[in-house]
Amino acid sequence: LNPIYAELPTTIFEVMSHLARTHDAVNLGQGFPDDPGPQDVRRKAAEAVVDGWNQYPPMMGLVELRRAAAAHYRRWQGLELDPDSEVMVTSGATEAIAGALLALIEPGDEVVLFQPLYDAYLPLVRRAGGIAKLVRLEPPAWNITREKLAAAFSERTKLVLFNNPQNPTGVVYSRQDLTLLAEFCVAFDAYAVCDEVWEHVIFDDLAFVPVMALPGMRERTVKISSAGKIFGMTGWKVGLVFAAPALMKVLSKAHQFLTFTTPPNLQVAVAYGLGKSDDYFTGMRAGLQRSRDRLARGLTDLGFSVLASSGTYFLSIDLAPLTNAADDEAFCLDLVRTHGVAAIPVSAFYAEDAVRSVVRFCFAKHDTTIDRALERLAKVP
Ligand code: GLN
Repeated sequence: LNPIYAELPTTIFEVMSHLARTHDAVNLGQGFPDDPGPQDVRRKAAEAVVDGWNQYPPMMGLVELRRAAAAHYRRWQGLELDPDSEVMVTSGATEAIAGALLALIEPGDEVVLFQPLYDAYLPLVRRAGGIAKLVRLEPPAWNITREKLAAAFSERTKLVLFNNPQNPTGVVYSRQDLTLLAEFCVAFDAYAVCDEVWEHVIFDDLAFVPVMALPGMRERTVKISSAGKIFGMTGWKVGLVFAAPALMKVLSKAHQFLTFTTPPNLQVAVAYGLGKSDDYFTGMRAGLQRSRDRLARGLTDLGFSVLASSGTYFLSIDLAPLTNAADDEAFCLDLVRTHGVAAIPVSAFYAEDAVRSVVRFCFAKHDTTIDRALERLAKVP
């Protein structure tokens, strides 16, 4: 057995969702919305199945979707992408990330990663033969500094795997932070694999800055997006990959023998959805921002120390101010078993030297769900 997988624990999302079912808990752990997603987009997917979109689509994705994606990112992020040579459809962002790592890493290459890190990253990097160089971020700001980057990058750095907005912290990195990261990528001739799946889930009128648009980055960036997050339908697993043609060529070689294609009816529906009016996207942001504020206010009123979140479906509390010996895992286990609320201990997103005082909650829920969770949280001593 390969020890990377043999010794890997079951993903925290599965563990907590299982506990939530067992204890009939309100599940604010794994990130998925209560809302079923836009009805017109769902209807398109259903119609497409009936209309016969059921055979293998082209390996790179339906041309309709690649064109719609290029138009969408021109409209929202000012990117100029050639649908024929710079866009690829994958079965979810996780496939896109796995494919990029398999395609770019050679055994012994160093890969810069940021902790807390989304739990899929590290095993994928290691299985691809990469050596992880971890940059440790800390609450409350989770900020990147020149010193931290200088300690992680070296002549052996092949790529940086970067998530913005960041899960689990909800941080949206500023142009200044991203420019600093880009400077290091250019200086060390490294690729940037950018998991930007939360690009549309961003609050407080903040602007999303795609790394690909920064000086020196156009040819060295792999941008990864997700229809699951764009439309709040996390089970769809339709990912989008954007990269310059030379890079895309090798990414497509990984994709062709991982999943090869992605269900065509979903591609038809996503192509339609990406063309929805600005109002849809701003409306989604506004709705989620209201939910964020509702949960943040409720938790604050209960005496919890709530950390800022400017994006994603998540906000966190810091237990440290409440107790000296904060243990996020023990807190979450007691919370789900005794009080019936599931949350995610952020220490699960560290490979070493974990911050153990932060707990993540998903707020992409109906008001009634949030209020039910808050009622239960009120009983936590
Ligand atoms: N992205 C989701 C989250 O952070 C989880 C996805 C999964 O369960 N693998 O909660």
